[in-house]
Amino acid sequence: MHFETKCVHAGVHKDQQYHSVTTPIYSSSTFSWSDLETNSGYDYTRSGNPTRKALEENLAALEGGAGCSATSSGMSAIHCVMSLFSPGDHIIAPTDVYGGTFRLFDRFLQQKGLNFSFVDMTDHAALLAAFRPATRCVWIETPSNPLLKVIDLAAVVSMAQQHGAVTVCDNTFLSPYLQRPLEFGVDLVVHSTTKYINGHSDVVGGCVVSRSSEHATQVAWLCNALGLACSPFDAWLVLRGVKTLGCRMEAQQANAMKVARFLAAHPRIRHVFYPGLESHPQHLLARQQQRGFGAMLSFEVAGGRDLAERVCVGTRLFDMAISVGGIESLISFPATMSHASMSPAARAAAGITDSLVRVSVGLEHADDLIADLSAALAP
Ligand SMILES: *Cc1c(COP(=O)(O)O)cnc(C)c1O
Repeated sequence: MHFETKCVHAGVHKDQQYHSVTTPIYSSSTFSWSDLETNSGYDYTRSGNPTRKALEENLAALEGGAGCSATSSGMSAIHCVMSLFSPGDHIIAPTDVYGGTFRLFDRFLQQKGLNFSFVDMTDHAALLAAFRPATRCVWIETPSNPLLKVIDLAAVVSMAQQHGAVTVCDNTFLSPYLQRPLEFGVDLVVHSTTKYINGHSDVVGGCVVSRSSEHATQVAWLCNALGLACSPFDAWLVLRGVKTLGCRMEAQQANAMKVARFLAAHPRIRHVFYPGLESHPQHLLARQQQRGFGAMLSFEVAGGRDLAERVCVGTRLFDMAISVGGIESLISFPATMSHASMSPAARAAAGITDSLVRVSVGLEHADDLIADLSAALAP
């Protein structure tokens, strides 16, 4: 089956009684047993639920994994994966990792005894030098947030495997329609389904997809033990959203390319970060490992925070809001919004300046988006 067909059909047919075309919401917290040994396969919704199961089968099929656990947020998916590791273990993560991930790693898990090194993973020598005997995991996020650096999945996986470390990829920015890390040998994929997978800015959710059934079993065990699973209603909403993932991604990335080209030619823009532009340092790599360039971009205005603020506040179609991946375009200022939890020093090291603006391009008409940005940038 092709990807688009799996989006529509994988996992959804759960109603044996009335043969409903969409998956029902099984909101029941508990399920009755017919004798002391037998239940329907479900006993309690924290541990398993038919609506959530439908979503999990769907997402496992889209990423090509052995199993999936759907969680209450992207952060709960990330925390679940990190719970596979123990005090003393060393984890390598990118310098410009998602702000919430950085906070969890640097401010919480570090206190619990896990050790982290943050490195620029486009620099393979720096990455190689970061490995220690205790390195158990390499955390990848590609393209990165907010600078859209592209990390070479095959190269990082091969380095990690030589050191006996597990690889995890946060695939939120591209979705499985545009990138399938498991096909490059990555062990675990996490998503904030809040973003492209749901796509409609009306759910906070996440998932972990595992390449091996061993990891899938461990992850499902942790989700039950730690209570991380999503509600049946949220699972139903995400399952509804994912059915249009392919066509949303196609349309939104076509818009993003047009917006990027407009910005790149604008005199008040110093630099545009978008892997689809030939000027992007990893443009060719993005072409090789991605099916498209995605719908996220960021840019530096030719001026300081004042001009950045004018653009953020001045656009009318782009809502100024945190988050990405919905059908409506959003604009944000990473330094005070998505990346506010990083210290100024960490932000500076990651290249997140006070001239930087991030955009999530939505499903509106590209000409309207460009006219809106053009008006906000006018002197
Ligand atoms: C939003 C996001 C997360 C966190 O997901 P939540 O659903 O907000 O908990 C993690 N990684 C990336 C890349 C994100 O964009």
